[in-house]
Amino acid sequence: MPIPSRWSVPIPRCSLQQWIFGSACGPLPDHKAFIDPDNPEANFLTMTDFRLLAKRVALGLQQAGIKEGDRVLIFSNNNLFFPSIFLGVLMAGGIVTGANPGFVPRELAYQLKDSEAKFLFVAEHATKTAFEAAAEVGLPRENIFVLGTATTPSASTLAQSPTAGPGVRGRVDGARHWTELLAGNLAQASTWSWQEPANPEETTCCLNYSSGTTGVPKGVEISHHSYVANGVGVSHMNRLRPDHAEKQKTDRGLCFLPLYHAYGQTYFIANLPHLRIPVYVMPQFDFPKMLAHIQRFRITILSVVPPIVVLLAKHPLTPKYDLSSIETIGSGAAPLTREVCEEVERLFPPRAGPGGREEQLYVRQGWGMTEVTCTSMSWDPAAAAGPSAGVGEVYPNCAARLVALDGSGAEVTHAGERGELWVTGPTLMRRYWRKPEATAETIVVDADGTRWLRTGDVAFVEEYRPGGIFHVVDRVKELIKVKGNQVAPAELEGILLENPDVADAAVVGVTIRGEEVPRAYVVRSPKSGAAEGDVARWMEGKVSRYKRLKGGVVFMDAIPKNPSGKILRKLLRERAQKEVGDS
Ligand code: AMP
Repeated sequence: MPIPSRWSVPIPRCSLQQWIFGSACGPLPDHKAFIDPDNPEANFLTMTDFRLLAKRVALGLQQAGIKEGDRVLIFSNNNLFFPSIFLGVLMAGGIVTGANPGFVPRELAYQLKDSEAKFLFVAEHATKTAFEAAAEVGLPRENIFVLGTATTPSASTLAQSPTAGPGVRGRVDGARHWTELLAGNLAQASTWSWQEPANPEETTCCLNYSSGTTGVPKGVEISHHSYVANGVGVSHMNRLRPDHAEKQKTDRGLCFLPLYHAYGQTYFIANLPHLRIPVYVMPQFDFPKMLAHIQRFRITILSVVPPIVVLLAKHPLTPKYDLSSIETIGSGAAPLTREVCEEVERLFPPRAGPGGREEQLYVRQGWGMTEVTCTSMSWDPAAAAGPSAGVGEVYPNCAARLVALDGSGAEVTHAGERGELWVTGPTLMRRYWRKPEATAETIVVDADGTRWLRTGDVAFVEEYRPGGIFHVVDRVKELIKVKGNQVAPAELEGILLENPDVADAAVVGVTIRGEEVPRAYVVRSPKSGAAEGDVARWMEGKVSRYKRLKGGVVFMDAIPKNPSGKILRKLLRERAQKEVGDS
């Protein structure tokens, strides 16, 4: 029997933009939505600016020739305009696909080609990579919009500027400056409405890339309805705080998680519009700056990934800052040990909560996956639970089940017993983009017609009932997670095989000093004299930093495989961990 959520919350049937803004032209609460922490007084966007700018981007894209369902790739670090560009694409009927701004040209070209993106937004500093990738896939320069932020005096001024805005600097090596999209459309934008999708369940709004349980990165098709359902879930959980209405008045978010990823997008999908929490947007993660901003802006909510919790626990700078404003710390995207959480919790002595109750801050883990839009498990903030390594309970409107690991397909129904985690709910992806086989391998339709996602994660539940706390304890999928980023072994193996010194290769994750990193097992070509270090160095220029073979390269005579040629990854993973020790 599946374990359903304790909450069934209505999900409006509308586009994501409709859910966020309520309407295209109606009044909005005019608080500061996105704030530049380095220039907070002058550089910000209000909710009205946010929507206006998004509508202007939409009109500009329509003028540039976007058609319904066209993909638009955003290749940028965080900035105040990112959310408006994202929503603008949706308002124009397009689909957003975000890419890691650290990608090398080959990686970006793969995503441009796979998604068949028609337009590309690129951060100024990443144009070289973008131009190279665009040339490889034949994307014309005029379909590239360069996102420079330094040229605008203030984000709000730009949003309200009737001309193309002070940011226009003409073409950038044949590409357009993104503010060209705003040219002459201020008046039209103020009365313009987007067209609502007739069927939000079947209208894709995002293609977020994930390798899932096996193979290379694939576009995960998330519908408007799924994104709205995700936002409804996040908002619902937040509102469960016993004194939510009071806390909301002083809540402040700090966004350093990447906005190209669904985890970062929560900042503009749920936090802002429904919870009205102002968000300070950092261009990227920077630990000392993060601490300084928490202190200066009295940040209350921190959403992090495990390496940041480790930094908070161990970095000598942490105790130098006043972090007492923080009320919740949520971590997700990769495993996190209880010991590290406790080190952080010791920084926050118990304090008086509502009704004089003593409150202790606990670092809470959540669980999510790109294939279920974002989060599917987290903690009920109203429950008086103590420290735990669990990832919380099933999210509103979703359900989970555990399936035996022996391949029998039997259901695990005992508390504490491990099984593969399967999840379902309105946040489940539509399918993998143009990959019906991968979709069929990943989504199982049961006798009732319910679609279940096989997550490839191993979990157990403390109590087999709605509200039971899940623990994610292992993975049976290929995926490697480096600082919360996905690394697909199949991708690295494919690249290694292009090296003339390499006859065969397998890549697995290994944990070194608490962090998972990729390690390659390589069979050398017959006459190769290459050393292990040569292969690791050769890879460095071919992939983004986090995909480098930091776990080392090891030569072997033959890659262990089963009779049908499948790499025996479990065996290699165990061997790798033995070789590096339990560090
Ligand atoms: P992504 O699709 O990039 O969000 O990665 C999803 C995967 O990250 C999950 O399937 C897990 O393997 C891993 N993951 C996410 N949250 C956790 C967590 N709290 N503990 C352990 N693994 C996690």
